[in-house]
Amino acid sequence: MSTITASEEQRVVEQVPKQLYIGGQWRDGAKGTLSVEDPATGEPLCEVADASTDDARAALDAADEAGPEWSRHPPRERGEVLRRAFDAIVSRQDELALLMTLEMGKTIAESKAEIAYGAEFFRWFSEQAVRIDGRYAVAPNGQGRLLTLKQPVGPCLLITPWNFPLAMGTRKIGPAIAAGCTMVVKPAQQTPLSMLMLAKILEEAGLPNGVLNLVTASSSGETMGPLIGDSRLRKLSFTGSTEVGRSLMEQASGNLLRLSMELGGNAPFIVFDDADVDAAVEGAVIAKMRNVGEACTAANRFHVAGRVADEFAEKLAGKLGAMKVGRGTEEGVEVGPLIDADQRGKVAGLVEDALGRGAKAVVGGHTRDGAGYFYDPTVLTDVPDDAELLREEIFGPVAPVKGFADEDEAIAAANDTEYGLVAYVYTNNLKRALRVVERLETGMVGLNQGMVSNAAAPFGGIKQSGFGREGGPEGIEEYLETKYVAVNL
Ligand code: NAP
Repeated sequence: MSTITASEEQRVVEQVPKQLYIGGQWRDGAKGTLSVEDPATGEPLCEVADASTDDARAALDAADEAGPEWSRHPPRERGEVLRRAFDAIVSRQDELALLMTLEMGKTIAESKAEIAYGAEFFRWFSEQAVRIDGRYAVAPNGQGRLLTLKQPVGPCLLITPWNFPLAMGTRKIGPAIAAGCTMVVKPAQQTPLSMLMLAKILEEAGLPNGVLNLVTASSSGETMGPLIGDSRLRKLSFTGSTEVGRSLMEQASGNLLRLSMELGGNAPFIVFDDADVDAAVEGAVIAKMRNVGEACTAANRFHVAGRVADEFAEKLAGKLGAMKVGRGTEEGVEVGPLIDADQRGKVAGLVEDALGRGAKAVVGGHTRDGAGYFYDPTVLTDVPDDAELLREEIFGPVAPVKGFADEDEAIAAANDTEYGLVAYVYTNNLKRALRVVERLETGMVGLNQGMVSNAAAPFGGIKQSGFGREGGPEGIEEYLETKYVAVNL
């Protein structure tokens, strides 16, 4: 990759539609505009529309109006829209990656990886659209017949975070389109550009007007609140923090909405002494450093068997310390900035807290001076049990390493969290692997691998990490209702 020029950057930002997308029309927001900035420089990139409550309601009006036709639209055609959009995303991967890097900060290579991953949800659900089926059964008394069919849940509100600006959208939009639902999408205000481009791609792929409506807003709660209470809305799918998820659940209770909640994580990464330590270090780099550590799946705590803990920490520190930090558009950079000053302040605070309680920084532990929100990749050892970063989602490039004595202690430590999204386990002992996997309180496990995300697999958590699954055959079920028909023969 050669270093990208300022005019290339300007061109990809200029081609993004900056308005709201409602009922197939691009229109201004009633509240003016909101600014999007580049976290690598702190400089503004552009302005996008700022929606009012009335704009959000107009988006739901459009989704509601388009609903009946779309729910009856031939499934094959729904799938073909997704397939065309998949092809378009893949063919425009370079420009979409640059745009994502500019608004979110991750490196171009990571943005490309997210675009490939995000596009896969459209390919997967284009194939699922034609596999929505029901059941025909003989009643136990032999007389009646029991018929079940699947129908779209209806208009959905899809709210996404800034850390994966495209993929967190496609894994909701893909199954919603495939199932025959219409939707209002609200991306995070820090990273709306990738989603705006996605709406344009879907428009060009032939998605009928009103099926997808996109609203960008500077005050999410105020703007989206009335929609959550509107009886025409039937589902809310949210990816974001546990705190906001909990409050949205409360709001949704009035309307008894179907819910999917993809919330925060605190993933343990367990390395047993029978593991291949070098492979575990490779996996740890991916599990920790993907997305600059700003992933719900990021390994938050490294629990390593006492006999290999020092070796693991030293090798991990060697890898992380050698990573080049800088603007994601620059050649050779492996670690971009954090999303904003608050997030960097939180990461720095958690590290200071751990160091203050006796932890040691093997590498890193510093904020970078100058423009942008950079933080050095960090490995900590001797982390005491009461350090805040063992309980809190770090969301940054910081790896605390703790030793353990035996399998029971490792599992107890791994499960000692309110979260339950994902855990990583490294062991070469098959019996141990299966024992440990069964006892971990998480929705997903990476067994001898540092990444679990796959469009063909059910992504999701338990405990305070939420509920519902995205991707895999399970993903479309979130957008379908089951209707049972009692048939009198
Ligand atoms: P966040 O603050 O909870 O925001 C997520 C989204 O919700 C944004 O679009 C935000 O809009 C919107 N929002 C905030 N308050 C709202 C309200 N009262 N009503 C309606 N919408 C509201 O989370 P974040 O900081 O963007 O994302 C990081 C979090 O997401 C982390 O905890 C991470 O673990 C989690 N996450 C989970 C998964 C998963 O699959 N489990 C995947 C990725 C990320 P604004 O931008 O306007 O605030």
